[in-house]
Amino acid sequence: MPLRALARVNLAAIERNVARLRGALTGGAGLCAVVKADGYGHGAVPVARAALAGGARSLAVATAVEATALRAGGIEAPLLVMGAVSDEELPVAVDARAELVAWNDRFVSQLVRVLGAVDGRSARIHVKLDTGMGRLGTRDFAEAARVAERVAAAAPAIELTGAMTHFASADEDPEFTATQLARFDPFVRFVRDRWPRVAVHAANSAATLRAPTSHFDFVRCGIAVYGCDPMNEDPLSHDLEPALELNSYVAAVKRAAAGDSAGYGRRWVAREDTWTATVPIGYADGIRRGLTNNCEVIIGSRRFPLVGAVSMDNITIEVGSPDVVRCGDRVTIIGGGEDGSERVTAEELARRIDTINYEIVCGISSRVPRAYHRDGTPA
Ligand SMILES: *Cc1c(COP(=O)(O)O)cnc(C)c1O
Repeated sequence: MPLRALARVNLAAIERNVARLRGALTGGAGLCAVVKADGYGHGAVPVARAALAGGARSLAVATAVEATALRAGGIEAPLLVMGAVSDEELPVAVDARAELVAWNDRFVSQLVRVLGAVDGRSARIHVKLDTGMGRLGTRDFAEAARVAERVAAAAPAIELTGAMTHFASADEDPEFTATQLARFDPFVRFVRDRWPRVAVHAANSAATLRAPTSHFDFVRCGIAVYGCDPMNEDPLSHDLEPALELNSYVAAVKRAAAGDSAGYGRRWVAREDTWTATVPIGYADGIRRGLTNNCEVIIGSRRFPLVGAVSMDNITIEVGSPDVVRCGDRVTIIGGGEDGSERVTAEELARRIDTINYEIVCGISSRVPRAYHRDGTPA
């Protein structure tokens, strides 16, 4: 009996994506694999291992607790927490030996205090200049420079390790990316002048693919590592291999006479006699409700339309006749069909509901078990 719902993750594809991205890097830049949000829904620990096997030199997450989870999973690689870390979370991050991002004096003071309370611990710091993202970091070059000086002066309790920024629209606006690079430049020069060993980094996946002058010492790639396209185009067009497939199965096949409906709110009514299949996966698994009457799944090698409302635990598919599908057949919501001719990508689903592929893969809930394989061999 098939599992109700299953996300299959191909770790060999992750390795190859990392290797390909590294092949595109300029000037000896390294790759930091971003595995926040449980590895964009793929599972942080297995993805981290695969990314390191593919040649990633370090890892990044958003939160202190995510760093702890990687350490608990046996990951020893350098690990950067990119997000804001509250006073309460700081000891957690320090415990996980995470590198941290700073952009003001208060944070540095707090960190020094926390480190004073733990014997012999030190922490590596990346100073962040906000060149246009408008989120974290300081917009003020002078403040960034001052924080960097202060961190450097507090060695060895804390160590100045990185200087960074983050792009707002590397996926769609090369001109603004160039503006951000120009704003970053004085800070890069300031840091490199004084501390030549500090690593400068800026690029996300989109900038890695589209802005080679942004590669600096390393790039921070998330979405592309998973084989999703940072421009929300077809991943194959950037030589990326989607690593995740989302499957369920046909639990029931039934006749719908003209006038019969399927699902809550009767959002679909059969116009003529037809047949439907019920598939036990729903919005609680991450099938967004906006896909109501608005997507297709693959059964066998063919696409069939989802009809009616997506419910919490089920979707319904119009299959037309009782002969084309059977109870127990595998249903592919994301991934390829049996003969490889049809493929549904996270990008396609994202476009249908006016969002981005990131939200589709991160949205696959914890109710869906993840199974790991390497090109079909269980990992
Ligand atoms: C999430 C994140 C990244 C990775 O972005 P992708 O578009 O997934 O490659 C890089 N840097 C920062 C600061 C991030 O928050």
